[in-house]
Amino acid sequence: MFEVGRVSAVRAAITRAQKWPGIAQPALWARTAGSSFVFGGVLVALITALTPTSFDHAVLQYANAAVAMSIGIAVLLTGRRVTLVQFHLLVVTAILQITLSVTFATGAAAVSFATLYVFVGCAAFFVAWPTAVLYLGLAMLCSTTALAVTGSVPWWTGLVTAATTAAVGVIILALGQVVAKAELDEVTGLPNRRGFERILSAEVSRASWEKTGPAVVLICVDARAAVQQAFGDRAADALMQQLTSTWLGVLGPGHVLARRSDGELALMLPATTEHDAFALTQRLRQEATREFSAGVSAWAAGESSTPVLERADAALRRAQSIGRNRTMLESSELPPLAVQLSDALAAEDIGVCYQPVMRLDDPDVVIGVEALLRWSPALGPDLNAGEVIRVAEDHDLIAALDQFVLRRACLDAGWVQGRFPGLPLMLSVNVSGLELVKQGYAARVVDTLRTTGWPADQLVLEVTETVLDVDRPSSINALHELRRHGIRVAIDDFGTGYSSLSRLHTLPTDLLKLDGSFVSSIISPSAPRLLQAVAGLADALHLPIVVEGVETARQAAVLRDMGFTMAQGYHFGRPQSREDVAESIRHQATTSGPALGG
Ligand code: C2E
Ligand code: MG
Ligand code: MG
Repeated sequence: MFEVGRVSAVRAAITRAQKWPGIAQPALWARTAGSSFVFGGVLVALITALTPTSFDHAVLQYANAAVAMSIGIAVLLTGRRVTLVQFHLLVVTAILQITLSVTFATGAAAVSFATLYVFVGCAAFFVAWPTAVLYLGLAMLCSTTALAVTGSVPWWTGLVTAATTAAVGVIILALGQVVAKAELDEVTGLPNRRGFERILSAEVSRASWEKTGPAVVLICVDARAAVQQAFGDRAADALMQQLTSTWLGVLGPGHVLARRSDGELALMLPATTEHDAFALTQRLRQEATREFSAGVSAWAAGESSTPVLERADAALRRAQSIGRNRTMLESSELPPLAVQLSDALAAEDIGVCYQPVMRLDDPDVVIGVEALLRWSPALGPDLNAGEVIRVAEDHDLIAALDQFVLRRACLDAGWVQGRFPGLPLMLSVNVSGLELVKQGYAARVVDTLRTTGWPADQLVLEVTETVLDVDRPSSINALHELRRHGIRVAIDDFGTGYSSLSRLHTLPTDLLKLDGSFVSSIISPSAPRLLQAVAGLADALHLPIVVEGVETARQAAVLRDMGFTMAQGYHFGRPQSREDVAESIRHQATTSGPALGG
């Protein structure tokens, strides 16, 4: 049992070593191999010219030297396109050529030629140790045999050159391993972040010649942090080891799996399209024992490795933000999301829909609407409103986006209001915390109200708790200024942030929007007590509450019994067009109702 375990561990180590090509880089190994061939060829030609030898042997030595120099020049010209397999072939060719020269020489000339085997020792720098051992073994065997075959020097001469080659090879191999270690992750034996980035850059510079580039998959093992917290570092490391060794068995030659940080892995797939990379990631998901989020992207002609990594990283963050355990693709063939969003804003091609806000004591009455944006890129994944906001916030488009939604919503609400003049419709619009702190925000809102004609006292601006929580005087000042103009302020998703209850009565707030999570827990016996406490709190602070996320008639009934007066949710109506809102209002029994909190 133990033996079997050892054998498979050794096999895994060898597989890993073979997959990890030391610190090799095509440009470097091509330069080294090319110049060694040229130098070796020149030496053979020179020694042949200087030492007396038969005509036949001289012709053979010159021909051998010419072939070596031609190979060297070709390799120098080919540069970074030389692959690892071709490098192995070059080393074997060099050993055979040196052996040929030694075999057909005599005395001092043969010994001089045999010193060229030392070049093989230098090649050990570029490869994993099992390959280096094979190189050195072959060189030593050829060296001793060839010198023995000449019969013109003592039999042990071959041993000297073989030992010198081995010594140089071992020293160079050791130096190579020291350098390579700085790029290895000790736990998994995989390249670390630095190693991965170097390998990717090398692959990208090769791709510039070959026109088919690598794909990158960034993977976050979602469970690692929880395992580490519950069971410690060793358990977390064991989790990563198990996962990576499973995947190494699935990956093909040339695929490089690396560990970028504690819970993050990276995969470099040479000459792979983004769709093939996506498919491979899904295969890895089938093999994995743990859930993970992944971001995929591929190289596009003319790029460096940085944008590829950035796109894969953006895709990974998207995958994590929309529920984890999924793979997202950020295509290099599409314009980045931010560019598409900016174009859509310029073309005013962003949708705004409206979710009815109802009065609970008379459930058929629509008393307001909340404006919710809708946008998905023409080329790319479907995005929910939260994701669009994140793209806008990340790329400084949030001011333009919120401004657009506010203007559109004021115009649409004006259109609905125009059909029902007796109904004081309340319009709620969401505001990003980033926009709120910008200079002149309140003035811009007031200007929009002026140009669209929507009355200030029928506008509610919704901000999330965290915006008010962070001690940012600029956002609090902006809210005060908005209220001075008669605009009302609501705290959105109330109960999910960290707002201090003691501060609540000092905040510039007119309304609380109670997060839907409170409603979804109505089935549990303790939930109504919690809701009752929230209702009591709002009552004490004289703050009206709109309960969000009401999905069933039962939830609506429980809330009504508890004294809540306003609600919104799928039970009453999904976010819809302004025409559908107008239609709902037309159907309701009464066309007038009190304003929110009024
Ligand atoms: P929010 O302001 O809390 O909006 C309520 C969200 O809950 C909306 O999601 C809505 O579609 C959803 N919802 C409504 N009723 C129900 C229900 O009964 N059950 C469930 N499960 N969900 C319900 P949506 O439209 O995806 O918006 C998500 C968030 O994105 C919003 O949360 C808001 O914070 C933000 N957002 C949306 N539009 C804008 C905008 O124009 N500007 C800014 N800054 N943020 C916006
Ligand atoms: Mg809202
Ligand atoms: Mg909300």
